Amino acid sequence: MKKNIALAFAALIVLGTALPSYAYVLLSPRRTWAGGSVTVLVNTAGNKTIADSSKGVANTANAITDWTGVVSSGTTSGSAVRGDGVPYIMLNNNGKICNGSCLAATLTGYYQTVGSTTTITDADVYTNQRYSFVSTSEADGCSGEFYIEGIMVHEVGHVIGIGHSNVAGSTMYPSVSYCDNGPASLATDDTAAMNDLYK
Ligand SMILES: [Zn+2]
Repeated sequence: MKKNIALAFAALIVLGTALPSYAYVLLSPRRTWAGGSVTVLVNTAGNKTIADSSKGVANTANAITDWTGVVSSGTTSGSAVRGDGVPYIMLNNNGKICNGSCLAATLTGYYQTVGSTTTITDADVYTNQRYSFVSTSEADGCSGEFYIEGIMVHEVGHVIGIGHSNVAGSTMYPSVSYCDNGPASLATDDTAAMNDLYK
């Protein structure tokens, strides 16, 4: 019995020392946008549950530039076209890929490998229409809703090649609670992932 405990303890030590300083995970295969930056376009239809002047479009476009130096943003009346090379955020459409407990989803299947370099060729973002969202510009605050800014900063992390992190409080943590806009602010773990890929 003592031997077993000792073995278990040793195993724990090995596991502990094997943990990396940062727990971010990059999408596999590792990939980036050509030129090291990308412009993400937010569809101007917005989301009908967001009661600000642009139905969340302006706040989303502003928030996603938190990925400083890598992501710039714009707005468009155009809709996502899969594989067209332009990443869109559709706030009014689930893309037939985001149901159930999914709040929003990014299509990460578009990339091309030439030699040892893999380049992202598209990454559109869709939003589940079953939930109520809110922005920081809504006058009545948050109740039983999800902040669109935090969710879309997370999704755009996927757009630029980052997977989920197990670091609680990071933007790339895979879940979020009602009225928690924490993911709108990048954690050290998120910045490290971005820098790993692009800096
Ligand atoms: Zn995610």
